[in-house]
Amino acid sequence: MSIASATLILKGRTASWGFAHGPLVLVDQARVGRRTAGSSAAEERALRGALAETNGQIKTLASTIGGDAAEILEFQLELLDDKALLGPIFAAIAAGAAADDAWSRVLAEQIAHYRAAPDEYLQARAADLIDLRDRVLAALNGELRASVKIPAGAVVCAEDLPPSRFLEIDWSAGGGLALSHGSAASHVAMLARARGVPMVVQLGRLPAQAGIALLDGEQATLELDPPPARIADFAARRSADSKGKAAASAVLAGPPVIWRGDRVRLHINIQDAADLGHPDAQYSDGIGLMRTEFLFDDPAGLPDEDKQFGIYEAVLRWAGDRPVTIRTVDAGGDKPIRGFTEDGEMNPFLGVRGLRLSLKRPEIFAVQLRALARAAVHGKLRVMFPMVTVPAEFTAARDLFREVVAHLLAAGVRAALPELGIMVEVPAAALTIDAFPASFFSIGSNDLTQYVMASDRANGALSALSDPLNPAVLELIRRTAEHGLRRGASVSLCGDMAGDPRCALALLRCGVREFSMSPPSLGRVKQAIADLNLGASGD
Ligand code: PEP
Ligand code: MG
Repeated sequence: MSIASATLILKGRTASWGFAHGPLVLVDQARVGRRTAGSSAAEERALRGALAETNGQIKTLASTIGGDAAEILEFQLELLDDKALLGPIFAAIAAGAAADDAWSRVLAEQIAHYRAAPDEYLQARAADLIDLRDRVLAALNGELRASVKIPAGAVVCAEDLPPSRFLEIDWSAGGGLALSHGSAASHVAMLARARGVPMVVQLGRLPAQAGIALLDGEQATLELDPPPARIADFAARRSADSKGKAAASAVLAGPPVIWRGDRVRLHINIQDAADLGHPDAQYSDGIGLMRTEFLFDDPAGLPDEDKQFGIYEAVLRWAGDRPVTIRTVDAGGDKPIRGFTEDGEMNPFLGVRGLRLSLKRPEIFAVQLRALARAAVHGKLRVMFPMVTVPAEFTAARDLFREVVAHLLAAGVRAALPELGIMVEVPAAALTIDAFPASFFSIGSNDLTQYVMASDRANGALSALSDPLNPAVLELIRRTAEHGLRRGASVSLCGDMAGDPRCALALLRCGVREFSMSPPSLGRVKQAIADLNLGASGD
């Protein structure tokens, strides 16, 4: 967050592109419950009743919404039944605590734990927990859920917002979402992008009072009570953006883009098969990155071979002839997974994460490799390893994969060894790229930037330094692309900068010809490259 001038302009990060001009509505999620405690048995009964009531509320909401959004609410329903979460709460009640105290205390610990996670997906879970905390407290206290009246077209401002609250708001008349915390990788951000609701996160502090606000999903700013000249400028940019959107949709369905005689391939990043439901996904050249760690972060435990195989096979079936790049689990450090990752690391970003962790836990890694080897016979599968630092890690993973395939074949199971590649996201790997016998490379600009710039990718205070367009980062991207060209190996870029049209020219100049991004970014990036071809700002 930074304050750009004397008038209140907060700067954050874009989670969903677009513009909103309307009244600012502050939505406070905090709610403190106080009730008179009864006997332990009465408190347990009260909590069970409140959990059941909350379950009913969320199920009703899910049934009125349907589709992917309803699937997101499933996570909250699972939490309401999660023994690991509820166990300590019922234990505290049995020891004499009041139901609301016990519930709030354990939920506060969990929320703080998720909030502190540098990984944006885990931070998103904090919003789901906050919503559950408040719903259950309201039910325990016999309150009606306080609902702030949100006028049409409002800029909704909150510390964080869970998907269920987002879904209760009518966005049909426009409006936008401004969060002081939040993350671009959260469930609510996915919903905002899917519904075209502009959203800016990590604004740092909320305005104290309501007023008229401009939310700018392009510049990632929230401006309160702007002067008429700013409003006029905003309106002009907003209208240019809607014209641009219409043009981008047309370009998306059109022929591929070319840059300096080379075909530019635009792939998508997904986390699960549900992401393939985005209408623009069909126009992609394939899947450039499937992050699999989210499959592992399941309250029900680590996914078994058949469950993983089913998901990978469904994704390959969707892709048909198009390539699908699945990344092996990138857990650890910023993405802790119960039963898998190491606790208490001093510096988790530099810790046992990615392939380092998978190689330490071959019994878990081999399950994923078996599922991938079985899926490989169903399409054009490529598998890549995350956080690779030295060639020996790549060869160890490759050897284990070969062994797994040999075992499957010996047992008469249909399986194949897919093409194997690495993420280039550790500077050491980028600097010694010649030494890696990988078939393809995919540049993870998010991690590469944080390691090159020594700036935590999730720390909003360092956003100026966390710049993927810094010449030091671009130099490593350039070297990697050049290596691919020399070796005839595919080099793609799958970090967030691939989906930012403002980075397209720099990446093309570095020699990148394969981009992988979230489905809603495809149109804008394709349009940006088409515009560059028209000579607006060529080489
Ligand atoms: C990256 O680091 O750029 C990347 C694509 O991986 P993740 O964001 O999942 O760490
Ligand atoms: Mg990464």
